[in-house]
Amino acid sequence: MWWTFLLVRKNNIIYTQQKEFITLTDNVSAQSNKQIDKEYFRQNIMIISEGIVFGLALISGISYLWIAYKRDLKNTARQNNFLLSVTHELKSPLASIKLAFETIKKRNLERHQNQDISKNGIIEVDRLHKQLENILDATAIEQNYYVDFINTNLTMLLDDIIDTRKNAIDESRVIYQVDKSSDTKSEFKIDVNAVRKICKNLIENALKYSKDNVEFNLAKKNNKLIISVSDTGPGIPDDEKDNIFKRFYRIGNEETRSSTGTGLGLFIVNQLVKKNNGQISLSNNSPSGSIFKIELNTK
Ligand code: ADP
Repeated sequence: MWWTFLLVRKNNIIYTQQKEFITLTDNVSAQSNKQIDKEYFRQNIMIISEGIVFGLALISGISYLWIAYKRDLKNTARQNNFLLSVTHELKSPLASIKLAFETIKKRNLERHQNQDISKNGIIEVDRLHKQLENILDATAIEQNYYVDFINTNLTMLLDDIIDTRKNAIDESRVIYQVDKSSDTKSEFKIDVNAVRKICKNLIENALKYSKDNVEFNLAKKNNKLIISVSDTGPGIPDDEKDNIFKRFYRIGNEETRSSTGTGLGLFIVNQLVKKNNGQISLSNNSPSGSIFKIELNTK
Protein backbone atom coordinates (compact mmCIF):
# COMPACT_ATOMS: atom_id res chain seq x y z
CA MET A 1 0.00 0.00 0.00
CA TRP A 2 2.84 2.34 0.91
CA TRP A 3 4.63 1.57 -2.33
CA THR A 4 1.44 2.12 -4.39
CA PHE A 5 0.79 5.39 -2.56
CA LEU A 6 4.34 6.63 -3.35
CA LEU A 7 4.04 5.74 -7.03
CA VAL A 8 0.61 7.39 -7.32
CA ARG A 9 2.03 10.51 -5.70
CA LYS A 10 4.99 10.52 -8.12
CA ASN A 11 2.58 10.10 -11.01
CA ASN A 12 0.62 13.10 -9.72
CA ILE A 13 3.80 15.22 -9.59
CA ILE A 14 4.77 14.23 -13.14
CA TYR A 15 1.25 15.01 -14.32
CA THR A 16 1.26 18.50 -12.72
CA GLN A 17 4.75 19.19 -14.10
CA GLN A 18 3.75 18.13 -17.60
CA LYS A 19 0.69 20.41 -17.40
CA GLU A 20 2.82 23.34 -16.24
CA PHE A 21 5.41 22.61 -18.92
CA ILE A 22 2.97 22.75 -21.80
CA THR A 23 1.42 25.96 -20.40
CA LEU A 24 4.91 27.55 -20.16
CA THR A 25 5.95 26.49 -23.65
CA ASP A 26 2.64 27.85 -25.05
CA ASN A 27 2.12 24.44 -26.50
CA VAL A 28 -1.40 23.99 -25.11
CA SER A 29 -3.58 22.14 -27.49
CA ALA A 30 -6.75 20.19 -26.66
CA GLN A 31 -5.10 17.07 -28.00
CA SER A 32 -1.89 17.24 -25.91
CA ASN A 33 -3.97 18.00 -22.82
CA LYS A 34 -6.09 14.96 -23.47
CA GLN A 35 -2.98 12.88 -24.12
CA ILE A 36 -1.46 13.86 -20.75
CA ASP A 37 -4.75 13.13 -18.92
CA LYS A 38 -5.03 9.77 -20.62
CA GLU A 39 -1.44 8.81 -19.74
CA TYR A 40 -1.98 9.95 -16.14
CA PHE A 41 -5.07 7.71 -15.71
CA ARG A 42 -3.38 4.78 -17.45
CA GLN A 43 -0.36 5.01 -15.13
CA ASN A 44 -2.58 5.29 -12.05
CA ILE A 45 -4.65 2.23 -13.00
CA MET A 46 -1.47 0.26 -13.73
CA ILE A 47 0.10 1.18 -10.36
CA ILE A 48 -3.09 0.38 -8.42
CA SER A 49 -3.60 -2.98 -10.20
CA GLU A 50 0.02 -3.97 -9.60
CA GLY A 51 -0.42 -2.97 -5.96
CA ILE A 52 -3.53 -5.15 -5.68
CA VAL A 53 -1.81 -8.12 -7.37
CA PHE A 54 1.28 -7.86 -5.14
CA GLY A 55 -0.94 -7.36 -2.09
CA LEU A 56 -2.98 -10.48 -2.89
CA ALA A 57 0.20 -12.49 -3.60
CA LEU A 58 1.59 -11.38 -0.25
CA ILE A 59 -1.63 -12.21 1.61
CA SER A 60 -1.91 -15.66 0.00
CA GLY A 61 1.80 -16.32 0.69
CA ILE A 62 1.40 -15.40 4.34
CA SER A 63 -1.81 -17.48 4.66
CA TYR A 64 -0.07 -20.45 3.04
CA LEU A 65 2.85 -20.15 5.47
CA TRP A 66 0.43 -19.84 8.39
CA ILE A 67 -1.49 -22.98 7.31
CA ALA A 68 1.79 -24.87 6.80
CA TYR A 69 2.97 -23.73 10.24
CA LYS A 70 -0.27 -24.89 11.89
CA ARG A 71 -0.09 -28.23 10.05
CA ASP A 72 3.49 -28.62 11.18
CA LEU A 73 2.50 -27.94 14.79
CA LYS A 74 -0.24 -30.60 14.58
CA ASN A 75 2.19 -33.12 13.02
CA THR A 76 4.75 -32.45 15.73
CA ALA A 77 2.09 -32.91 18.42
CA ARG A 78 0.99 -36.18 16.77
CA GLN A 79 4.57 -37.42 16.58
CA ASN A 80 5.20 -36.49 20.21
CA ASN A 81 2.04 -38.38 21.13
CA PHE A 82 3.29 -41.33 19.10
CA LEU A 83 6.67 -41.27 20.83
CA LEU A 84 5.01 -41.16 24.24
CA SER A 85 2.63 -43.99 23.43
CA VAL A 86 5.19 -46.16 21.64
CA THR A 87 7.65 -45.78 24.52
CA HIS A 88 4.94 -46.88 26.90
CA GLU A 89 3.69 -49.65 24.60
CA LEU A 90 7.16 -51.15 24.20
CA LYS A 91 8.52 -50.58 27.67
CA SER A 92 5.64 -51.85 29.78
CA PRO A 93 5.34 -55.34 28.19
CA LEU A 94 9.15 -55.69 28.39
CA ALA A 95 9.04 -54.79 32.09
CA SER A 96 6.25 -57.34 32.72
CA ILE A 97 8.12 -60.08 30.82
CA LYS A 98 11.30 -59.36 32.80
CA LEU A 99 9.37 -59.47 36.05
CA ALA A 100 7.79 -62.80 35.08
CA PHE A 101 11.20 -64.36 34.39
CA GLU A 102 12.69 -62.93 37.59
CA THR A 103 9.82 -64.35 39.65
CA ILE A 104 10.22 -67.79 38.06
CA LYS A 105 14.01 -67.66 38.62
CA LYS A 106 14.02 -66.47 42.23
CA ARG A 107 11.12 -68.37 43.76
CA ASN A 108 10.33 -71.99 44.10
CA LEU A 109 6.85 -71.84 42.70
CA GLU A 110 4.08 -74.38 42.40
CA ARG A 111 3.34 -75.70 38.92
CA HIS A 112 0.05 -73.76 38.62
CA GLN A 113 1.78 -70.53 39.72
CA ASN A 114 4.45 -71.06 37.08
CA GLN A 115 1.72 -71.58 34.52
CA ASP A 116 -0.11 -68.38 35.51
CA ILE A 117 3.07 -66.32 35.31
CA SER A 118 4.03 -67.86 31.94
CA LYS A 119 0.52 -67.18 30.61
CA ASN A 120 0.82 -63.50 31.54
CA GLY A 121 4.29 -63.42 29.97
CA ILE A 122 2.89 -64.81 26.71
CA ILE A 123 0.12 -62.17 26.71
CA GLU A 124 2.75 -59.44 27.07
CA VAL A 125 4.90 -60.98 24.30
CA ASP A 126 1.81 -60.95 22.06
CA ARG A 127 1.18 -57.31 22.92
CA LEU A 128 4.78 -56.43 22.06
CA HIS A 129 4.58 -58.42 18.86
CA LYS A 130 1.36 -56.65 17.84
CA GLN A 131 2.86 -53.20 18.36
CA LEU A 132 6.03 -54.05 16.46
CA GLU A 133 4.00 -55.54 13.62
CA ASN A 134 1.89 -52.36 13.41
CA ILE A 135 4.97 -50.13 13.39
CA LEU A 136 6.58 -52.24 10.62
CA ASP A 137 3.34 -52.42 8.61
CA ALA A 138 2.78 -48.66 8.85
CA THR A 139 6.33 -48.00 7.64
CA ALA A 140 6.23 -50.45 4.75
CA ILE A 141 2.66 -50.04 3.61
CA GLU A 142 2.97 -46.78 1.69
CA GLN A 143 5.93 -47.83 -0.48
CA ASN A 144 6.22 -51.60 -0.45
CA TYR A 145 2.72 -53.01 -0.39
CA TYR A 146 1.67 -55.11 -3.37
CA VAL A 147 -1.90 -56.29 -3.70
CA ASP A 148 -1.88 -60.07 -3.90
CA PHE A 149 -5.16 -61.67 -5.05
CA ILE A 150 -5.77 -65.16 -3.63
CA ASN A 151 -8.64 -67.55 -4.39
CA THR A 152 -11.08 -67.97 -1.50
CA ASN A 153 -14.79 -68.01 -0.57
CA LEU A 154 -16.74 -66.49 2.32
CA THR A 155 -16.53 -69.61 4.53
CA MET A 156 -12.79 -70.02 3.99
CA LEU A 157 -12.22 -66.32 4.57
CA LEU A 158 -14.15 -66.32 7.85
CA ASP A 159 -12.28 -69.44 9.06
CA ASP A 160 -9.01 -67.73 8.16
CA ILE A 161 -9.92 -64.60 10.16
CA ILE A 162 -11.08 -66.63 13.17
CA ASP A 163 -7.88 -68.68 12.97
CA THR A 164 -5.66 -65.56 13.14
CA ARG A 165 -7.43 -64.64 16.37
CA LYS A 166 -7.61 -68.03 18.06
CA ASN A 167 -5.52 -67.14 21.14
CA ALA A 168 -6.51 -63.50 21.34
CA ILE A 169 -7.77 -61.99 24.58
CA ASP A 170 -11.53 -61.34 24.85
CA GLU A 171 -12.20 -63.45 21.76
CA SER A 172 -15.39 -64.78 23.39
CA ARG A 173 -16.94 -61.31 22.98
CA VAL A 174 -16.74 -61.41 19.18
CA ILE A 175 -19.84 -62.62 17.31
CA TYR A 176 -18.84 -63.76 13.83
CA GLN A 177 -21.52 -63.83 11.15
CA VAL A 178 -21.77 -64.37 7.43
CA ASP A 179 -24.62 -62.62 5.63
CA LYS A 180 -27.35 -65.22 4.98
CA SER A 181 -28.25 -63.91 1.53
CA SER A 182 -24.61 -64.15 0.33
CA ASP A 183 -23.29 -67.20 -1.47
CA THR A 184 -20.74 -68.69 0.94
CA LYS A 185 -19.34 -71.38 -1.36
CA SER A 186 -18.57 -69.59 -4.66
CA GLU A 187 -14.91 -68.71 -5.05
CA PHE A 188 -13.54 -65.24 -5.76
CA LYS A 189 -10.15 -63.57 -5.66
CA ILE A 190 -9.25 -61.02 -3.02
CA ASP A 191 -6.18 -59.65 -1.23
CA VAL A 192 -6.54 -62.07 1.72
CA ASN A 193 -3.53 -60.64 3.55
CA ALA A 194 -5.09 -57.15 3.51
CA VAL A 195 -8.47 -58.56 4.65
CA ARG A 196 -6.77 -60.31 7.61
CA LYS A 197 -5.00 -57.13 8.75
CA ILE A 198 -8.09 -54.95 8.27
CA CYS A 199 -10.30 -57.34 10.27
CA LYS A 200 -7.69 -57.82 12.98
CA ASN A 201 -7.29 -54.08 13.56
CA LEU A 202 -11.02 -53.32 13.48
CA ILE A 203 -11.93 -56.20 15.82
CA GLU A 204 -9.13 -55.30 18.26
CA ASN A 205 -10.29 -51.68 18.37
CA ALA A 206 -13.93 -52.65 18.86
CA LEU A 207 -12.94 -54.93 21.77
CA LYS A 208 -10.62 -52.31 23.24
CA TYR A 209 -13.11 -49.45 23.18
CA SER A 210 -16.25 -51.33 24.26
CA LYS A 211 -17.09 -53.68 27.11
CA ASP A 212 -19.92 -55.55 25.41
CA ASN A 213 -20.08 -57.94 22.50
CA VAL A 214 -18.70 -56.95 19.14
CA GLU A 215 -20.39 -57.95 15.87
CA PHE A 216 -18.31 -58.97 12.89
CA ASN A 217 -20.08 -59.49 9.58
CA LEU A 218 -18.89 -60.72 6.18
CA ALA A 219 -21.00 -60.41 3.04
CA LYS A 220 -20.55 -60.53 -0.72
CA LYS A 221 -22.76 -58.39 -2.91
CA ASN A 222 -22.19 -58.22 -6.67
CA ASN A 223 -18.42 -58.07 -6.98
CA LYS A 224 -17.77 -56.57 -3.58
CA LEU A 225 -16.69 -58.10 -0.30
CA ILE A 226 -18.32 -56.20 2.57
CA ILE A 227 -16.77 -56.33 6.03
CA SER A 228 -18.52 -54.65 8.93
CA VAL A 229 -17.49 -54.41 12.56
CA SER A 230 -19.81 -52.82 15.10
CA ASP A 231 -19.46 -52.15 18.79
CA THR A 232 -21.45 -50.44 21.52
CA GLY A 233 -18.59 -48.40 22.99
CA PRO A 234 -18.46 -44.60 23.35
CA GLY A 235 -18.49 -44.03 19.56
CA ILE A 236 -16.44 -41.49 17.64
CA PRO A 237 -17.44 -37.79 17.60
CA ASP A 238 -18.33 -36.45 14.12
CA ASP A 239 -15.44 -33.95 14.07
CA GLU A 240 -12.94 -36.77 14.73
CA LYS A 241 -14.27 -39.22 12.13
CA ASP A 242 -11.76 -38.15 9.45
CA ASN A 243 -8.85 -37.59 11.83
CA ILE A 244 -8.73 -41.11 13.28
CA PHE A 245 -7.44 -42.51 9.96
CA LYS A 246 -4.34 -40.29 10.08
CA ARG A 247 -0.98 -41.76 11.06
CA PHE A 248 -0.35 -41.62 14.87
CA TYR A 249 -3.73 -39.96 15.52
CA ARG A 250 -5.42 -40.85 18.80
CA ILE A 251 -8.42 -39.04 20.26
CA GLY A 252 -7.63 -37.15 23.47
CA ASN A 253 -4.43 -36.48 25.33
CA GLU A 254 -1.63 -39.07 25.61
CA GLU A 255 -0.76 -38.11 29.18
CA THR A 256 -4.28 -38.66 30.55
CA ARG A 257 -5.41 -41.54 28.35
CA SER A 258 -5.91 -44.98 29.86
CA SER A 259 -6.31 -47.06 26.66
CA THR A 260 -3.21 -48.59 25.10
CA GLY A 261 -2.25 -48.08 21.44
CA THR A 262 -0.06 -46.11 19.07
CA GLY A 263 -2.54 -44.55 16.63
CA LEU A 264 -1.43 -46.76 13.74
CA GLY A 265 -4.23 -49.35 13.51
CA LEU A 266 -6.77 -47.30 11.54
CA PHE A 267 -4.02 -45.67 9.47
CA ILE A 268 -3.01 -49.19 8.33
CA VAL A 269 -6.66 -50.12 7.67
CA ASN A 270 -7.19 -46.99 5.57
CA GLN A 271 -3.98 -47.51 3.58
CA LEU A 272 -4.87 -51.15 2.82
CA VAL A 273 -8.37 -50.15 1.69
CA LYS A 274 -6.86 -47.47 -0.58
CA LYS A 275 -4.32 -49.93 -2.07
CA ASN A 276 -7.25 -52.18 -2.95
CA ASN A 277 -9.33 -49.29 -4.41
CA GLY A 278 -11.93 -50.01 -1.75
CA GLN A 279 -14.10 -47.79 0.40
CA ILE A 280 -14.34 -47.28 4.12
CA SER A 281 -17.26 -45.73 5.97
CA LEU A 282 -17.83 -45.02 9.62
CA SER A 283 -21.26 -44.48 11.16
CA ASN A 284 -22.75 -44.31 14.65
CA ASN A 285 -24.23 -47.45 16.15
CA SER A 286 -27.49 -47.25 18.06
CA PRO A 287 -27.85 -46.39 20.96
CA SER A 288 -24.05 -45.90 21.12
CA GLY A 289 -20.85 -47.13 19.50
CA SER A 290 -19.42 -47.27 15.99
CA ILE A 291 -19.91 -49.26 12.81
CA PHE A 292 -16.91 -49.56 10.48
CA LYS A 293 -17.83 -50.78 7.01
CA ILE A 294 -15.28 -51.73 4.35
CA GLU A 295 -16.02 -52.56 0.73
CA LEU A 296 -13.35 -54.26 -1.37
CA ASN A 297 -13.49 -55.23 -5.04
CA THR A 298 -13.18 -58.92 -5.77
CA LYS A 299 -12.10 -60.63 -9.01
P1 ADP B 1 -5.01 -46.90 18.64
O1 ADP B 1 -3.74 -47.67 18.67
O2 ADP B 1 -4.98 -45.66 19.46
O3 ADP B 1 -6.23 -47.74 18.91
P2 ADP B 1 -6.12 -46.56 15.97
O4 ADP B 1 -5.51 -45.96 14.76
O5 ADP B 1 -6.57 -47.96 15.88
O6 ADP B 1 -5.07 -46.36 17.14
O7 ADP B 1 -7.35 -45.66 16.39
C1 ADP B 1 -7.22 -44.25 16.43
C2 ADP B 1 -8.14 -43.66 17.49
O8 ADP B 1 -9.51 -43.83 17.05
C3 ADP B 1 -8.07 -44.36 18.82
O9 ADP B 1 -7.07 -43.78 19.64
C4 ADP B 1 -9.46 -44.13 19.39
O10 ADP B 1 -9.50 -42.87 20.03
C5 ADP B 1 -10.34 -44.05 18.16
N1 ADP B 1 -11.07 -45.35 17.91
C6 ADP B 1 -10.72 -46.31 17.03
N2 ADP B 1 -11.62 -47.31 17.02
C7 ADP B 1 -12.57 -46.96 17.91
C8 ADP B 1 -13.80 -47.59 18.35
N3 ADP B 1 -14.21 -48.77 17.89
N4 ADP B 1 -14.55 -46.91 19.28
C9 ADP B 1 -14.14 -45.72 19.76
N5 ADP B 1 -13.01 -45.09 19.38
C10 ADP B 1 -12.22 -45.69 18.48
